Amino acid sequence: MTAACLMSTYQPLALSFNKGLGTRLWDQTGREYLDAVAGVAVTNVGHSHPKIVAAITEQAGLLLHTSNLYSIDWQQQLAQKLTRLAGMDRAFFNNSGAEANETALKIARLYGWHKGIEQPLVVVMENAFHGRTLGTLSASDGPAVRLGFNKLPGDFLKVPFGDLKALEALQQAHGSRIVAILMEPIQGESGVQLAPPGYLKAVRELCNRRSWLLMLDEIQTGIGRTGQWFAFQHEGIVPDVMTLAKGLGNGVPIGACLARGKAAELFTPGSHGSTFGGNPLACRVGCTVLDIIEEQGLLDNARLQGERLLGRLRTELADNPNVSALRGQGLMIGIELKQPIRDLSLIAARDHGLLINVTRGQVIRLLPPLTIDEREVEMIVRGVSAVLTPTWDEPQ
Ligand SMILES: *Cc1c(COP(=O)(O)O)cnc(C)c1O
Repeated sequence: MTAACLMSTYQPLALSFNKGLGTRLWDQTGREYLDAVAGVAVTNVGHSHPKIVAAITEQAGLLLHTSNLYSIDWQQQLAQKLTRLAGMDRAFFNNSGAEANETALKIARLYGWHKGIEQPLVVVMENAFHGRTLGTLSASDGPAVRLGFNKLPGDFLKVPFGDLKALEALQQAHGSRIVAILMEPIQGESGVQLAPPGYLKAVRELCNRRSWLLMLDEIQTGIGRTGQWFAFQHEGIVPDVMTLAKGLGNGVPIGACLARGKAAELFTPGSHGSTFGGNPLACRVGCTVLDIIEEQGLLDNARLQGERLLGRLRTELADNPNVSALRGQGLMIGIELKQPIRDLSLIAARDHGLLINVTRGQVIRLLPPLTIDEREVEMIVRGVSAVLTPTWDEPQ
């Protein structure tokens, strides 16, 4: 087989899987791997969960697609469940994270338009990642994703993540044009970056004072990843707009934009849409994912195993010469390295049967399914310590 017919947007490892069950994957030779990537925070309830298999199978035999020209029962059910869990009013469904964020950005535009703001500005964070469409790329940071696409649409102001003073200072120069803040509660792609405690709450208060929309990108942090349904719930706040995708479909493509109050009332028939968005299959799977998380107590498990994993890593890696920092919330954990180590995820897979992700070159990101148990936590700790422990024949 050759990948020469594919556009080279990725550099995949020389690894390929053809079966998954729970926290495990198998390659073509039948070798088993423990999956601490979960398709990048997607398969939160594990691979081939029997309830999801059953939901997909039954729905495929009933109806895959009609159109948003007709009302879709599963879509309404999913909207009801999500809005209830999040304390939001309305939902719009699409097929990916980037599209969900595009929806949020369009809400911000409409919000400004209704207020008579000619050239609305959205505040975003340094090192943010919001997707790969032209709009969401404009809201994202970092030369790697933006190189060659320089003239990007949209008007964004960028401030350092976690810096409240920088946010407050924007009012003077741009106050009358700012309509919203778009941010991740924890920055995933840029290496599991956490904001200082109380930051999100202070941002919420600032948005209230200025009548800016607080729009949270929970595409990676949402659906139980951090030990709450949504990461903002750790801070006891509610955003005006929230976006979801990744874990919502456990591998079936689906994105969602939820909104509350004024932000939920801005779209009118014709102002937004999606052919596939909110189809019966994806929405039924979304409902099933939420049911499974509830039935299996996966929020508690994510909290418990996340604390255990972070604690065990702190112990095991305390004196490790390769590690400069450890951080995380729930089952979203970052291990920052002093410098990049080549082929780390390949070595972990090859030598230890452990799948890990490395982001921004030198942060190991652990995102195992929310179903992992104590024994599997130990397997991750052992595998990660082993790849990070220098041996006598390796140059230091
Ligand atoms: C993955 C991700 C996106 C983009 O989602 P896609 O489904 O790839 O478009 C946006 N924001 C965050 C925080 C993400 O982690």
